[in-house]
Amino acid sequence: MSGLNPQQRAAVEYLGGPLLVLAGAGSGKTRVITEKIAHLIAGRHVEARHIAAITFTNKAAREMRERVAKRIKGDAAEGLTVTTFHSLGLRFLQIEHARVGLRRGFSIFDADDQMAIIKDLAPPGLKNDALYALQSLVSAAKNNGLTPEQAAELARSPREREAASVYARYQARLQAFNAVDFDDLIRLPLQLLEGDAGLAAGWRERIRYLLVDECQDTNGAQYRLLKQLAGPRGRMTCVGDDDQSIYAWRGAQPENLDLLAEDYPDLKVIKLEQNYRCSGRILRCANTLIAKNPHKHLKQLWSQHGEGEPVRVWQCRNNEHEAERVAAEIHYLKQARDIPWGEFAILFRGNHQSRPLEKALQLLRIPYHLSGGTAFLDRAEVKDLLAWLRVIANPDDDTAFLRAIAAPRREVGATTLEKLAAMAQTAGLPMSVAAGQVGFLKQLSARAAAGLDEFSRIVAGLREQAETLTPAELVPVLAERSGLLAMIRSQCKDEASFARRKANLEELASWFEGARGGGPGELAAQLALLSNADRGEPGNAVRLMSLHAAKGLEFRVVFVVGCEDGNLPHEASLEEDRLEEERRLMYVGITRARERLYLSHSAEIKRWGEVQHLLPSRFLDELPAGDLLRDGLDPKREAEEKKQRGRAHLDAIAALLGD
Ligand code: ATP
Ligand code: MG
Repeated sequence: MSGLNPQQRAAVEYLGGPLLVLAGAGSGKTRVITEKIAHLIAGRHVEARHIAAITFTNKAAREMRERVAKRIKGDAAEGLTVTTFHSLGLRFLQIEHARVGLRRGFSIFDADDQMAIIKDLAPPGLKNDALYALQSLVSAAKNNGLTPEQAAELARSPREREAASVYARYQARLQAFNAVDFDDLIRLPLQLLEGDAGLAAGWRERIRYLLVDECQDTNGAQYRLLKQLAGPRGRMTCVGDDDQSIYAWRGAQPENLDLLAEDYPDLKVIKLEQNYRCSGRILRCANTLIAKNPHKHLKQLWSQHGEGEPVRVWQCRNNEHEAERVAAEIHYLKQARDIPWGEFAILFRGNHQSRPLEKALQLLRIPYHLSGGTAFLDRAEVKDLLAWLRVIANPDDDTAFLRAIAAPRREVGATTLEKLAAMAQTAGLPMSVAAGQVGFLKQLSARAAAGLDEFSRIVAGLREQAETLTPAELVPVLAERSGLLAMIRSQCKDEASFARRKANLEELASWFEGARGGGPGELAAQLALLSNADRGEPGNAVRLMSLHAAKGLEFRVVFVVGCEDGNLPHEASLEEDRLEEERRLMYVGITRARERLYLSHSAEIKRWGEVQHLLPSRFLDELPAGDLLRDGLDPKREAEEKKQRGRAHLDAIAALLGD
């Protein structure tokens, strides 16, 4: 525990009851959790299997596991749980599934699957906007831990009554498909634990100590789940920062930090005030900015680091110019200061902002890794393959069946499928089972029947092979036997694009290789849980990601691009309370930087072919002027920069030829 400051040490050693560590960015909150896990295992001899830590992303969980492994010798950390709320919920349901009427191998539906069902249940003719609104009402009810009956009781407007009725039918549909959605991964465990004291006691016996990172971003249901798991004695350590609450739009309730004090009168609160991450100037910018938000908990962060470089504020002509400057600066710093690529991050408000940045980085041959973007798991061939895996694992999954039967198409049209769905429903069978029954097939056209029959045979064969093959071995067999590979080949214009799409399937197989044990269904479920920000290993590359995805991370050099009014703060968030959330987003961005920070904005942008003039973000004016170095538009400097970029480009080409 050497190297911790007295407050951190107190937080690590405190086991007297519920504890909240409330502190600003970079003050070592996450470090407290890691150290506390190590302390519980090594110092207090708590068995690792009785400890569970909850992080905000899978990536953060991975990192924390690695850090703990470094601190603990031998296999004492074996059995430790470090996971996200959703993964914990999945684990819970994999054990307790029978209590909510789920069978083994149940599927997890993602947002697309969810939308497909909502569309089906909604009154006909609803536009996309209305469908999304309906989906988010259903999701909100679930996130608040409401059952369909409770939602119906609470509904006041016709719109809410409509949503409650869709919610009830939606839930029935999920049940029939032996499936859950993301919200259920929290809601169902919560419902079980709240309704069954014996079950809750059993889980508290299993998880004797609970640690929660980024507590300010828990939603209502997650908070209640936390309370259930921690029990009335509140054996837990929560860490959080109300100034970094940036997920209100997804139902997060920063008030949960205050609720803790109400729900646990013996809650101990520890504040950390030393920031170990940022240079003095960067920290002052962060402090000054966030002081503009009204505060319940006053926090004053200080840093022992020197003042450091001034924070650069760049005015650029447009976002291409901005991207070029960022790329050239990274190239320069790498050469001049020998900063590794992985220590640079470029952060933005929206994922669409990445394209010019990628182009500029490619031009200078700078390796980069984009989190999110066209997410790997959203690619058509990957989703097709996962649908096949789901059908193999879970015959009841009609949504997966509908996707798999169409990949590749086998003379089974929409009318046939509608007929099949109707027959299956009357008989109370899932579609994939109905599709294999001679009695049903006889009522269809010969061609359609042959297509369905072939499909059923392939699935049956693959199911048999899944008994003996590992999922990683099953993927190539499946790709071949299902006809997926042949379909992809026929869709590709050239060999290169076929190779690329095939490589995606191979990558999927390699992910399965990394997973220990588990059948195809369980692995498909695990994959469904990975959020965009978590996918892939960045390696030594410049990191491109959204501000939301950057939470908890740190880099030596950070660029926050697109600091314009309308983008950051976003134009949809200009009312006061939403503006506060945007300010927190900016605060999160600024506090990711350890040594150098660049805030850039463009003077104009092209939208739908029209040039729009932009104003610098109002947040830039809220920063202490003495810590900034402002770079306006200057033709002379621009000419010099252009030359410099030219040289960098030539270097890159020379390096390419030398390879
Ligand atoms: P955020 O709010 O951004 O999640 P945090 O409060 O979780 O930040 P950490 O990521 O735990 O902060 O710590 C920030 C940095 O400070 C890390 O590099 C960490 O290793 C370092 N650090 C934390 N505590 C100490 C300490 N006592 N001495 C030296 N370095 C420390
Ligand atoms: Mg942290």
